Amino acid sequence: MEAADVVVSLREVAGGPELLELADAHGGIWLVGGAVRDLLLGRSPGELDVVVEGDVGEVAGRLGEPVLHERFGTATVQGDGFAIDLAAPRTESYPAPGALPEVAPATLAEDIERRDFTINAIAVRLPDGEVLAEPRALADLQSGTLRVLHPGSFEDDPTRVWRMARYAGRLGFRPDEETAALAAQAGPGQTSGERIGNELRLILAEDDPSAALEALAEYCPQALPAGFSCRPERLAPALELLPADGRRDLLVLAACVAAMDTATLQRWLDDLAFPAADRDLVVASSRWVTGEPLRAAQGRAAVLRAARGAPVEAVALAGGDNAALWLEELRHLELEIGGDDLIAAGLEPGPQVGAALERALEAKAEGRCSGREEELAAALEGAGGTGA
Ligand code: ATP
Ligand code: MG
Repeated sequence: MEAADVVVSLREVAGGPELLELADAHGGIWLVGGAVRDLLLGRSPGELDVVVEGDVGEVAGRLGEPVLHERFGTATVQGDGFAIDLAAPRTESYPAPGALPEVAPATLAEDIERRDFTINAIAVRLPDGEVLAEPRALADLQSGTLRVLHPGSFEDDPTRVWRMARYAGRLGFRPDEETAALAAQAGPGQTSGERIGNELRLILAEDDPSAALEALAEYCPQALPAGFSCRPERLAPALELLPADGRRDLLVLAACVAAMDTATLQRWLDDLAFPAADRDLVVASSRWVTGEPLRAAQGRAAVLRAARGAPVEAVALAGGDNAALWLEELRHLELEIGGDDLIAAGLEPGPQVGAALERALEAKAEGRCSGREEELAAALEGAGGTGA
């Protein structure tokens, strides 16, 4: 596809017609970055990145109700099934390697030069299709090459190594020799763990996170902690088992970090600014606490006992028939009675109430009781001291 044909394919994607209509009425609207890359590759872009020569807020306001990000002079408009990111052309300079950039107004040509890879350094003017691109951009897109624009690129912004891995995994592209050599030497500089963590979280959300992680391990192995495994054997079957209410991203991560020691893993996840609940889920699921007992369990009651309280991600990772049985069926099992019923029947309040309910649930799982009366009987069976 020719770069100018981008305008034709833009009509077919969500938000494209709205953007083109705006550009008919307003000059200086350029489609840039990933959106152009994806359209040229025949892929559908995640969101439409737009550079506006003019007042970003005003232009964004014509598209809908924008959310304005004052600090960066950018705006986002959410429409029906699409998002458009608008920004004025800018340069970014790095006060220290890996520090947050200082942003200054610039020409569109300068804005193109600050980009991460040549394949993302293409702008197409709307609606006429005029192209402004880094000179190697279109050839690199054609040959599947990931090339930084200058040798200091990874030093300026170490998150670009992670971005490179994401593009490599997603598009099957490969860095050119010089870019690969630069990636091999790249360190985190002063980049915050949170920014690196955000890149890891983007990788985990990819269709094939393992492909991106393998690219990272190949080109920048120092970016991953010791013991990290990019495509662990258990991952594919676990993903098959994971129910829709499970966290796919955290399951992937848990599978990858199973060989790391707990303290190192916890520290790493904290550095990367994972929310505490997500961190705990990854740690718990990757430790296999339920794995062995669950795989060894014989019978439905034993499966119920072995999986009790485990997150669905941990059970999916444990794998096997018992995991499937619990995920698909047993975890949804509910009693018709509750603790109050047992207390009303004379049981002393305390831990024995929970234990009795557990007994009834196991009986129900095995088909030994159904309905309130039988559940109650199963719960109270052998409870002792019912006082009744
Ligand atoms: P995706 O398809 O995952 O959205 P994308 O290429 O569109 O990927 P965005 O994060 O949406 O990436 O950013 C849009 C564009 O902004 C990129 O294509 C690139 O030109 C530029 N960009 C984003 N992050 C960086 C960065 N860290 N350094 C330089 N340029 C960047
Ligand atoms: Mg994008």
